[in-house]
Amino acid sequence: MKLDVNLSELIACAERMGSFVPDFAVEVAIEDSFELDTSLSSTAGLEIGLDELEIEQGLLGYRGRQVLLFIPDHGSRAGNVLAGRSEGNKFHVADCQKLDEMRSKQRFERYKATYNVSGKFEIFGTLGYRGEDVSGEAELHVCKLCLGYLNYRGYKNSNKAAKDSVYDAFDISEFLSKYSTLFRSMPKREALVDMAGYVDNWKEISRDFRQSHNWSCDHCNVNLQSHPALLHTHHINGVKRDNRPENLKALCIDCHRKQPQHDYMRVTHAQMQELNRLRKEQSLLCQDSWDELIELADTSVTDLLRHYRLKSYAKPVVGHELQADSGEVIAMFELAWPDKQKAIAIDYDAISLGSQYGWRVISVGEAIKRMNQ
Ligand SMILES: [Zn+2]
Ligand SMILES: [Zn+2]
Ligand SMILES: [Zn+2]
Repeated sequence: MKLDVNLSELIACAERMGSFVPDFAVEVAIEDSFELDTSLSSTAGLEIGLDELEIEQGLLGYRGRQVLLFIPDHGSRAGNVLAGRSEGNKFHVADCQKLDEMRSKQRFERYKATYNVSGKFEIFGTLGYRGEDVSGEAELHVCKLCLGYLNYRGYKNSNKAAKDSVYDAFDISEFLSKYSTLFRSMPKREALVDMAGYVDNWKEISRDFRQSHNWSCDHCNVNLQSHPALLHTHHINGVKRDNRPENLKALCIDCHRKQPQHDYMRVTHAQMQELNRLRKEQSLLCQDSWDELIELADTSVTDLLRHYRLKSYAKPVVGHELQADSGEVIAMFELAWPDKQKAIAIDYDAISLGSQYGWRVISVGEAIKRMNQ
């Protein structure tokens, strides 16, 4: 695929931003990765085969990145769908039973993958039966089986009205942010684009501000003096040039991404684990109520927690550390029931280490599967 993009300009832009340079430098094939991100972030998406789709913890991935799947071919409905009628194909966000069906019918090659967040998808077809060919961008909606499979925002266990409101409010960006810790790779472009709009000396302003807040998160209170990169300076009114102290807040990356209009932010699994390790060390991981558990757990397991609460499970511990016989911490479980030696983990190493120490540890994907049995 040939791209009409000046890569050197983008790299120069990244260099001006300083902190993004190392990330770019370690990328082995920059152009390759850039092309991949460009097609996956477009409304046209990228055609992928069944064997290329990665089922990652019950969600959909392609080359380490989280994706959605949609069918561009709308046949004779294309005209109606392009005109805004809501009879378009649903897009998938999880390994739902519809995908299983498609796999067994070998109809999978018709799908495209994307992580464009606009809710618009490039589709094609004809104007009614035997009409002329049409194509363009149309709004498609999320597959309800996928929402049920993940218990997204409690969907599975809700009544019709509550289900409808989860479905109507579904936002792709928010969805991708919620599960970002389950994926190895993050799109590179979004982070760069997002740096636009700050004043030139923003880095110093931000550092001074966080220092004046003793490197602590204004929301969850975690102290990040030892990990300053995990603490951000947030603009309350959303205007990045408005740096009056009353418009700024120091927020850890987890609390920051939960702010309105911040769902473009991606948090990696390593960052989230480090954050919860520090919260725990500083006795900030209150685990008294289910609501507190849901607030502080990795967002990729909060819908499992909602299900467990409803089913009256014993309350798990968030961020349980597994210690070797020497006392050294060797792994962290996202959710654990220490008295039963049962746990749910994201990291596959944690799963195997856990079983070596007599725990029964399953992945998030396995826990999602069991929730549906
Ligand atoms: Zn689905
Ligand atoms: Zn925080
Ligand atoms: Zn912010």
